[in-house]
Amino acid sequence: MIIKTVTPQGMCGGVASAIKQIETILQNPETPKPIYMLGSLVHNKIIVKQFQEQGIIVLDGNKKEAAIESISFGTIIFTAHGISDKIYDLAFKKGLNIIDTTCPKVLKTHNIIKAKLKEGYHILFLGVKGHPETEGILGLSEKIQLIDENADILPINYKTLLINQTTLPYKQVQTLYEKIKAKHPFVELADEVCSATRQRQKAALKQTKGADICLVIGDVMSNNCQALKKIIEDENKITTYLIEKITDLKMIDFKNINVIAITSGASTPKTIVDDIINELKTNK
Ligand code: SF4
Repeated sequence: MIIKTVTPQGMCGGVASAIKQIETILQNPETPKPIYMLGSLVHNKIIVKQFQEQGIIVLDGNKKEAAIESISFGTIIFTAHGISDKIYDLAFKKGLNIIDTTCPKVLKTHNIIKAKLKEGYHILFLGVKGHPETEGILGLSEKIQLIDENADILPINYKTLLINQTTLPYKQVQTLYEKIKAKHPFVELADEVCSATRQRQKAALKQTKGADICLVIGDVMSNNCQALKKIIEDENKITTYLIEKITDLKMIDFKNINVIAITSGASTPKTIVDDIINELKTNK
């Protein structure tokens, strides 16, 4: 069996930086305790569990306001997905020690939206409902309209911006923009699929060609892992499995499989990918 590993793949700079920031505060004895994290740092259970084992308390990311209201002192970590100004200000006013690990690329999206809102733009945000990045964006202003890939947009302010979540399939953004522009040529696009996501998707599309099956290694809740799976299946028509750990290999029938392509998401530790490849080489 031939194993093709897609390059680049795996952990992005934004996630690596967030992890580093947390490791730094954990090592600093002067960090105010307890240390809370508002939701999961990234969508990877293994990473989050490791931090919990080091004493970090994970608060409910779906009830951010109530979670902040429930604590009075210590340190609060905001995750790489970003946070609305409202929640940030709430933590600030309570005097909590704030560690904001928002990825600079998500922050850039926030800043574009804020600037355009000031200019009177209507904002169409293409994102996944309920995802923490989306929630952080929607928390910036009630004037932001969440849309999905099937959106059929009706009368729009002549100043309208289409902008998107950083981890979406990049072709999905372009396709929706073309569709909207055909009816409303004045709509502007700020394509905010981040470079790490885009590079991994392009590499996956190119390098999985010819494989019998593909494995995307990462958390099933990770949006960028789901996007990788979707584009490989939709465009290369290759059966693709999103798996988190070695035992998930059990669900795959390896009979008549000669070539496996492997990629992984932006929040997947390399050790997990290495373990799964070793297992495939040894036992399959
Ligand atoms: S996937 Fe992109 S936006 Fe998200 S943390 Fe990584 S670099 Fe930042």
